[in-house]
Amino acid sequence: MLTGANIVLLGGDARQLEVIRRLTELDATVLAVGFDKLSTPLDGAVQAEPDGQLFEEADALILPAVGTDEDGTVTAVFSDRELRLEEAHIARLSRHCKVYTGMASRYLRELCAKYGIGLVELFERDDVAIYNSIPTAEGAVMMAIQHTDITIHGSNAVVLGMGRTGLTLARTLKAMGAKVKIGVRRDEHFARAYEMGLDPFYLKDLVVHAANLDLLFNTIPTMIVTAQIIAQMPSRAVIIDLASKPGGTDFRYAERRGIKALLAPSLPGIVAPKTAGRIMADCLGRLLMEDLRLGREKR
Ligand code: NAP
Repeated sequence: MLTGANIVLLGGDARQLEVIRRLTELDATVLAVGFDKLSTPLDGAVQAEPDGQLFEEADALILPAVGTDEDGTVTAVFSDRELRLEEAHIARLSRHCKVYTGMASRYLRELCAKYGIGLVELFERDDVAIYNSIPTAEGAVMMAIQHTDITIHGSNAVVLGMGRTGLTLARTLKAMGAKVKIGVRRDEHFARAYEMGLDPFYLKDLVVHAANLDLLFNTIPTMIVTAQIIAQMPSRAVIIDLASKPGGTDFRYAERRGIKALLAPSLPGIVAPKTAGRIMADCLGRLLMEDLRLGREKR
């Protein structure tokens, strides 16, 4: 349980409501900033102001999935106020307090490093990334349905990358009856894809496989769907790029060729905020119990 722990939540979207619910269930004192326009009560949490004392007394600071941007701005969809994580806030955290977020900006990383504050990036964890790949794959399927006039069943789909997202997506597309090719660079991924009944190819041969596809899903966070690849694609093809910004597609060239290419960030939060929130909440609950226990033992 988290009895006696002061946990500060700064901003966020519907996913944070699941986090609040879970942490209050675990008996933490949850102080939430940036939820003043929420029409429903806050499930046991207390609305708070981002003053110095709040940060001084925090045992943990929880930021939204995307943390802060590069000037410290924190997204808070349930508030009209502009919310910022200032250097002065981090400076006032006690040494045992950690900052938890989905993924951190350089701004946040540098601030935490400067003041010796632990920073936990949930999306870097394998378990969270694998759970998150489920709503991500469903979101990718939703986009494919919205932007094509054919069924996924029977379509020629190519998935690039066989990491946590690519694997789940390829499996989902195959289960829906698509003919799925998957582009990989490792021999063991090639073998696994073959075992799964997918049609693997090496990424160096991507240009060959671009010629006859309906759907191209990219999960590789580097420029991979280049102009040279797009030039080989049929005009009916749709590219759905899931990789983090700026994606791995030459969007300028795709537009020039009249090929629909979409960057699709943050799908879990869009298609399934409740599930995405639960994924974060469950992981946070476990981590906080462990981290606060270890922190108490050290003190
Ligand atoms: P991951 O498990 O690390 O998988 C990344 C894949 O890309 C791996 O197969 C990796 O190959 C491959 N790769 C990386 N760099 C490469 C390069 N230079 N050349 C060839 N292949 C390369 O990551 P993930 O969790 O699946 O996430 C993939 C991307 O999707 C990330 O950018 C992540 O932020 C993003 N994402 C987006 C959403 C969304 O809603 N759009 C949701 C979740 C994640 P190896 O295994 O051989 O290294």
